[in-house]
Amino acid sequence: MKDIQIEETYRKQAEKLHRENPVVDAHLDLAGEVLIRSQLGERDIVKHHYLDDWKRSGFSLIVSSVFVENRNLSNGFENALQQIAALKRDLKDLTEVRLVNCADGLKKAIVEKKIAILLYMEGLEVIGEDIDLLMELKKQGITGASLVWSRKGALANGCCRATEHRQVKGGLTATGRRAVRKMEELSLFLDISHLNDKGFEEVLTIAERPFIATHSNSRSVYDSYRNLTDEQLGRLAGQGGIAGLNACKYIAGSLSGNHLEMLCRHVKKELEIAGEDHIGYGFDLCDSYMTASCRQRGKQSPETEDCLEDHGDAVILTAALLQQGILEKTVRKITGENFLRYFLQILPETAASPL
Ligand SMILES: [Zn+2]
Repeated sequence: MKDIQIEETYRKQAEKLHRENPVVDAHLDLAGEVLIRSQLGERDIVKHHYLDDWKRSGFSLIVSSVFVENRNLSNGFENALQQIAALKRDLKDLTEVRLVNCADGLKKAIVEKKIAILLYMEGLEVIGEDIDLLMELKKQGITGASLVWSRKGALANGCCRATEHRQVKGGLTATGRRAVRKMEELSLFLDISHLNDKGFEEVLTIAERPFIATHSNSRSVYDSYRNLTDEQLGRLAGQGGIAGLNACKYIAGSLSGNHLEMLCRHVKKELEIAGEDHIGYGFDLCDSYMTASCRQRGKQSPETEDCLEDHGDAVILTAALLQQGILEKTVRKITGENFLRYFLQILPETAASPL
């Protein structure tokens, strides 16, 4: 299928917008990829695989997940710590990029024109029922978490194998509810992407601080359990949350190659339901991660899943939104202002532990 063709004027407008305003990607499996590539003998991984693309699109903040694959769950906590250590090591001499864990650090990085990175746990399966380990993760630089990935965990059930369109029932466990309270005490942000519908309802009743969906789209535009229903999008917005636009073709629903068109449809629907203050970018680009992970397992690289070639292409998507008639002031909120406002509000003012 033919995708939206971008006109030069909108491309130029988008490039200027990206140069002059904050641009945020609220979801990238970066720490895991850095660990895998370092185990394969690579060095300066962020520099070689990401930095130029981030600069090209003027990124100010990337939220890196710490995602533990099923194959590593038996020593999951150890694997999570290894990912964090690998990312810290990789960024050590990279002056353009800075790991941050508090609002002051984030503000400072933006003022100094660094690309800030926040670390968060994509799924807390690795702590089992031991919620005291949240403190340990925070000491390591973790600033937020989702309770579970698309699988069953001790804290909650995920929406489970969304691409197979098979929903798992059952929301949070008693320990999961305690974990939400503990996360709030520790000023960790909460991500509900990957939670199932029952879990979403329960979080809505117990969370006292705004929570977000770092990488979920509109379910009424594309029917996947990884996406949010209109009612959920409305509720997410009502409590101050933001939905990050997911650019995985299985979640955007652009299986025939109409990537920009589908991403714009999700944004337009979310504008109607959630409003302009509650949408951001949370691309979940994973081709680079999957290539590395497959190489480590001696498997062939899978077919591409990303709707964008790389982070540099974020400008093209922004141009598509402008070309669809969305006002520039609204697009600025989507490209970065909304998520930046959220993180500055939700993170502790200063860091309790150094990075
Ligand atoms: Zn995910």
